[in-house]
Amino acid sequence: MKAKDLLFQLSRMEHSLQDFSFEELTSKEAAQLKTIFETFKKNLESKIFQPSIPVSLKDENEFLENEEFANSKSPEYTDSNMLIAKVSHEIRTPLNGIIGFTDLLKEDEDLNHQQMERVNAIQKASYSLMEIINELLEYSKLSAGVETFESVPFNFRNLVGDVIYLCKTLVSDKEVNLNVEIDKNVPATLVGDPSKLTQVLLNLLGNAIKFVEKGSIEVSVQSELVDKNKTILKFNIADTGIGISEENLKHIFDSFKQAETNTYMKYGGSGLGLSIVKQIIEQLGGRIKVTSELGAGTTFEFSVPFEVSNAESPVQTTDILSQVSAKQKDAVSGMQVLIFEDNILNQRLIDQRLKAWECKTYITDNAQFGLHVLANHKIDLVLMDLKMPGMSGFEIAKLIRSFEKPDATSIPIIALSADFSARDKEECQKCGFDDFILKPYSSDELLQKLVDNKRDTSITVIEASSSINSKNNKTEKTQIDLSGILEECMGQVELLEELMVLYKQNALEFIGNVRLHLENSDSKQIGFAAHKIKSGLKMMQTVTLLEIVEQIQKCCNSDSDLKHLKFLYDSFLEEYPIAEKAIDKAMDELRK
Ligand code: ADP
Repeated sequence: MKAKDLLFQLSRMEHSLQDFSFEELTSKEAAQLKTIFETFKKNLESKIFQPSIPVSLKDENEFLENEEFANSKSPEYTDSNMLIAKVSHEIRTPLNGIIGFTDLLKEDEDLNHQQMERVNAIQKASYSLMEIINELLEYSKLSAGVETFESVPFNFRNLVGDVIYLCKTLVSDKEVNLNVEIDKNVPATLVGDPSKLTQVLLNLLGNAIKFVEKGSIEVSVQSELVDKNKTILKFNIADTGIGISEENLKHIFDSFKQAETNTYMKYGGSGLGLSIVKQIIEQLGGRIKVTSELGAGTTFEFSVPFEVSNAESPVQTTDILSQVSAKQKDAVSGMQVLIFEDNILNQRLIDQRLKAWECKTYITDNAQFGLHVLANHKIDLVLMDLKMPGMSGFEIAKLIRSFEKPDATSIPIIALSADFSARDKEECQKCGFDDFILKPYSSDELLQKLVDNKRDTSITVIEASSSINSKNNKTEKTQIDLSGILEECMGQVELLEELMVLYKQNALEFIGNVRLHLENSDSKQIGFAAHKIKSGLKMMQTVTLLEIVEQIQKCCNSDSDLKHLKFLYDSFLEEYPIAEKAIDKAMDELRK
């Protein structure tokens, strides 16, 4: 059924590849792209042309061992559903590889104009194919009733803010006004499945944007409180687009149906979006209806019940478009970030955000591709979704930590998870993660995490700790310039001598205090001690010590991991005599 579309996309891609001169390119990426394409093509052909492939639940296939499918003995999980799910799932991974490698090819400065056009064509076709495959997978899971729905607290206004942020990037080249109005009675925190609600909104708004060239799209949300723990949200999405005829309106929620026969050629799409939207809404206990007039516009109305959370909002309401501090943005600008994320919506969202802060992004759910990027690019930070198909985030993190490229083993890795249990936290530490972010997170939160984990500070700490093995080497390198502080002492060396005594006293006090508070596991007091010594270290320009102390402070303000604090404290102890020697040497110079 959808084989036609898949093959159509495939032959478009194949056509582009045929014209593509891999010989001229001689790049490693081109060879990998070719291999991965061939694997993909073979997979697709074997699945499509052998519809009778065994799909028994006993199949030793990795996919079928996947929990959600292994448990899918539902009678509704028909062979055709199973086949669609299997095909979609297996095609996604190599296809992700194709998309990723074409991204890398585009960076190749040797590509001429024609080659670039072909790479773009391959990528465009791959994206359409990916969209169809994702929808097929979602559709088959929903139809079989094996799709799982989350129940987690989420900040409703943040969610809508994210969706609108993404949609605004889609209307940038159109004369379309996109407005949202959320009634003030809508509770701040709801309990439900935020990613499914996002999917519904993005699908409906994505269609509206597709079918409005010039005009407006109005979104409104009202809340009808059932009792103090439950509310029904009523959404209304009205556009002034091309509209749908009365005849076509009757079948609009049917699967694989597009209103006009030429819709696919003109607008793309699989005709599955609305059917998925309807299934999600109904499985959430809601209803959807549509009214439309050809040439005038279309209105979708839907309602969904949600539990109301009385707990504090998990993420503070922030306007997604609000300007984050320029200083923070400058700090991350130019960073190269590798993101492992399988959810297509999250991929888009994270990509938009990072690009807005002028970061370079590499996004994938394909471990092989991610490691390739890591080996060949100067990656500054990794964001890692913990739950991914195939290899989990934990496993990929372990691989990164044991990577041959020495630089990669110390790259900060931040875990992304909607559901972070204590066990996950422990596992994260074991696998070498540096930090984590709970989903859904605000744009400001993400930016803060990038700033906090930016590598230059952690490298210094690693240098400091490695100084254990190369102390002499380090002592030679550490030079302290006291001219600035001497100027502040109006050139009086005696005054500087007095300051120096105070500095050393402070440092010893700090060492003693932290030892004591580490024994008492009192991170609050450790943070306080770190705060106190900071100005002295700044004044003496003992950069490495200052950075270690800043890390201590950061650790006390976040997870207060005592093991890490102890490590930082040891680094300080190692580094302190080296810095002291350098200061003494500089003082000697001044006294001459
Ligand atoms: P597709 O992926 O093809 O967009 P959908 O199920 O989302 O599939 O939509 C099915 C068809 O419904 C579309 O192809 C289009 O013809 C029609 N349609 C959906 N939303 C709108 C809209 N807002 N305005 C006009 N036509 C729409």
